[in-house]
Amino acid sequence: MSIPFNRPTYVGKESGYMQQVLKNNHLSGDGPFTKKSHAVLEEALGVPKVLLTTSCTHALEMSALLLNLKEGDEVIVPAFTFVSTINAFVLRGAKPVFADIRADTLNLDESRLEALITPRTRAIVVVHYAGVGCEMDAIMEIANRHGIPVIEDNAHGLFGKYKGKYLGTFGVMATQSFHETKNFTSGEGGALLINDKKYIEDAEILREKGTNRSRFFRGQVDKYTWVSVGSSYLPSDMLAAFLFAQLEERKKIQSARQRIWETYYKELGAWAEENHVTMPFVPAHCEQSYHMFYLLFPNLESRQAAIAHLKERGIQAVFHYLPLHLSPMGEKYGGKPGDCAVTERISDQLLRLPFYTNMADDEQKEVIAALKEFSVQ
Ligand SMILES: *Cc1c(COP(=O)(O)O)cnc(C)c1O
Repeated sequence: MSIPFNRPTYVGKESGYMQQVLKNNHLSGDGPFTKKSHAVLEEALGVPKVLLTTSCTHALEMSALLLNLKEGDEVIVPAFTFVSTINAFVLRGAKPVFADIRADTLNLDESRLEALITPRTRAIVVVHYAGVGCEMDAIMEIANRHGIPVIEDNAHGLFGKYKGKYLGTFGVMATQSFHETKNFTSGEGGALLINDKKYIEDAEILREKGTNRSRFFRGQVDKYTWVSVGSSYLPSDMLAAFLFAQLEERKKIQSARQRIWETYYKELGAWAEENHVTMPFVPAHCEQSYHMFYLLFPNLESRQAAIAHLKERGIQAVFHYLPLHLSPMGEKYGGKPGDCAVTERISDQLLRLPFYTNMADDEQKEVIAALKEFSVQ
């Protein structure tokens, strides 16, 4: 059997809703399914405004534009994340300032945050890695004391919670991804969550080519026109229909993922301990989103050997996030080895196991059995 790292899951109603889009004669953006998706997310999370976007990357770009970031501004970002988290800000001319991560949750290390703040810091971007919340009490206290807005890249964390409050509801804005590899998908897709209401009107204008089209449709102005700079970040209603089917089944999707995560955790515990492999850590005050299952091997050699061992058995396991500060772009901004020591170490050690909503029990059993045949030398 060959077991992929990821496989998209269809929950059942996607094609019916897409047929409905054809009947609605509304294929462009902001149609009935986009509105339903906005409503379900706003209601479930208690967020004042949600706007679907074409990707999480584009939602991040919107947040950088809405914060009016300019050349020379500094943005603090974890060194252990996907490139989009910072690219969106660099596109506006901002300079990334890389923060190291905690060795337990792999989230931005809040104890090192304040030392990175300068008079030029214009934003702090946090990533809830694997859908486990960052230490938001400490982060928000520091950010508020310095008057710096926080953006949450919540691509992993939809429906996860920190101290009982949904991830994505702490910062001025947060971004979601509906890429094929995320818990909920439309192939490509994303959303901007706006918590600070002062950004709502500008966000609507920015997303609709710099026009006040949303106000026109609400009857607040009698014609719509070019009022500001803008672009086009809205997905087709066809994609929203696909996504809405998945959002409606969120309980089913999340409980399937929880079961897979807990099975890995239970079945691999003794093997991990024998082999000095570290299991994922979820603090008691965090409810994770069950986005991924990762293991931390003792070093690069054992991690690479595990990948090769699984590959021989037709199982695709992957690693991710090369330290951003050591990438060719990161080096341009002065990144050097040793700047973010935990990130550098974790990047060598981390392995992600196959994990997808419709993973069959026998597929998972095979992954577990294959790992148990591996021992760290
Ligand atoms: C997947 C991901 C993104 C990018 O999402 P897209 O929707 O593909 O643009 C951004 N940040 C993180 C942390 C991600 O995992």
